Amino acid sequence: MASHQKKNSSGRLASFQISAALAGFALILCLLVGNSLATTVDAGPDVDLRWPARRIVISLSSSLQETSPAIMRGSNVRTALESALKSWSSAANLSFEIIETDQTNVSPAGSSGDGVNLITIAGSAENILFLSTHGPRVPAATRIFYDRRGRITETDIVLNPSELFSTNGAFGTFDLETVLLHEIGHLLGLEHSDLPFASMYDGIARNGILGGLMAYGRELSDVDVAMARTKYGPPDGVNDCCTSLTAKILTGQRRPAINEKVWLEESLSGRLVSALQTDRSGVVRFEALLNRMPNSQGSRFPK
Ligand SMILES: [Zn+2]
Repeated sequence: MASHQKKNSSGRLASFQISAALAGFALILCLLVGNSLATTVDAGPDVDLRWPARRIVISLSSSLQETSPAIMRGSNVRTALESALKSWSSAANLSFEIIETDQTNVSPAGSSGDGVNLITIAGSAENILFLSTHGPRVPAATRIFYDRRGRITETDIVLNPSELFSTNGAFGTFDLETVLLHEIGHLLGLEHSDLPFASMYDGIARNGILGGLMAYGRELSDVDVAMARTKYGPPDGVNDCCTSLTAKILTGQRRPAINEKVWLEESLSGRLVSALQTDRSGVVRFEALLNRMPNSQGSRFPK
């Protein structure tokens, strides 16, 4: 455990507490959760996936606009999607446009797709095949296409037509907006977070089942916001971004702690704000952190 202080660009003193957690801890959490929210990203760990443009067009499949046995009656799919997209566009410098399409199939695996960013729940052979590669009960999966430089060219989100989604919190169903919030994070090129209250945590419970173990819902956590801002920056006019912090973690033998998970906690509030892994030099760099730190005027939390 180590304390670290760093002045950010605005001159405020940012104080963090850093602790190196045991590698097994995240694994224990993964065993507790319900279903996994899968993603297919063939990029290596060093490929930084991101959209080259800030405006992304999402195609809503007719399979989600029509009556589907996988969507509980009375659910408002369009509102859930708009709300999930707004969460991300409020977090980072991004905007979205929704168009409707009769397309229903995920683009087949390959070097490139059709350029349409589809969200579908159709029970077609292609979609079922794609979902099956992630396990039998996965609620959703996202396929990402990108070029050699990590620039995303297309993403397709497939909701599992064998599951039941709702927008009213119905017991035993998956909350549609929560699932979409997570998958749109993948659409943006974000990877999973080890923190169970983050929307990008790999796992979701059905409404009312294991709910006490799942802290996240329809709102992005600070962790998700920081991940999105690291790639895309904050929205215009946002002034609570961005503090960065770099730390080198050493073992008791003064050797670099390699591939160790480091949890970042605000020392005054006790909030966990990020969790990243050290590199081969034992170095970890946190970026795009919220400036929710005590300032020189004495206000504890500026926001
Ligand atoms: Zn996921």
